[in-house]
Amino acid sequence: MIEIKSLSKQFMNHEDHQLEVLKDISLTVEDGDIYGIIGMSGAGKSTMLRLIGLLDSPTSGEILVDGKNINELTGKDKISYYKSIGTVFQGYNLLMQKTVFDNVMFPLTLSKYDKAEAQAKVNKLLELVGLADKANAYPCTLSGGQRQRVAIARALANDPELLLCDEPTSALDSLTTRSILELLQQINRTMGVTIIIITHEIGVVKTICNKVAVLDQGVLVDNGPVQEVKNHREHEITRELFGGNE
Ligand code: ADP
Ligand code: MG
Repeated sequence: MIEIKSLSKQFMNHEDHQLEVLKDISLTVEDGDIYGIIGMSGAGKSTMLRLIGLLDSPTSGEILVDGKNINELTGKDKISYYKSIGTVFQGYNLLMQKTVFDNVMFPLTLSKYDKAEAQAKVNKLLELVGLADKANAYPCTLSGGQRQRVAIARALANDPELLLCDEPTSALDSLTTRSILELLQQINRTMGVTIIIITHEIGVVKTICNKVAVLDQGVLVDNGPVQEVKNHREHEITRELFGGNE
């Protein structure tokens, strides 16, 4: 369980002005959720994901994971927190000089697995994402959807409890988007991985999320189970996103 409490983040811009990117955000992600964070470009979505992934630290507030403040983790605890998270990006971030197999193997080279175990693991993951026949291919020969499948397999290599997805389908066409979302849902259901998915597309939220947070210029304007947020349409942005009278 992830409890975000009064989380704020400020950056200094070029003129030395303080930019308030996240303002006093509180929400809870429960184990097994597929939690969507939706908002316009610049709303602070990626910053929030970076804070959860411990790639940056908040200006104030805290993020508790299973009751522990992640910004107070040190040593082994910090390493195991990083290991408990897989991340998927819009741009796939694959190693272009390496084969599909080696891309998925990469996070396992530093792990507890011996070589044979690691290879078996990679094969299993490639099977899971439907790319068993592409193990020896290079990313440049793959479609966008296939590249994202490689990235998802790589993100799962260390058996994460949490998968952070930053606009994972924003570079893909609608049919490919659907197949990637189905894969994420399958991973959530069969492996029990909690997913936080950032998007600017309401279709993503409607297709796979059970909960949603709506961010507007760093402010959390709505959040909760998707159907509730949709029915209440508390905020103008939420109404715009979910459409008028659907
Ligand atoms: P989103 O992912 O919703 O598009 P971001 O979280 O990437 O939004 O960015 C939110 C705001 O924070 C933007 O105005 C962006 O320019 C600013 N920002 C993000 N990272 C930094 C940084 N490292 N330094 C200064 N400003 C930043
Ligand atoms: Mg972003």
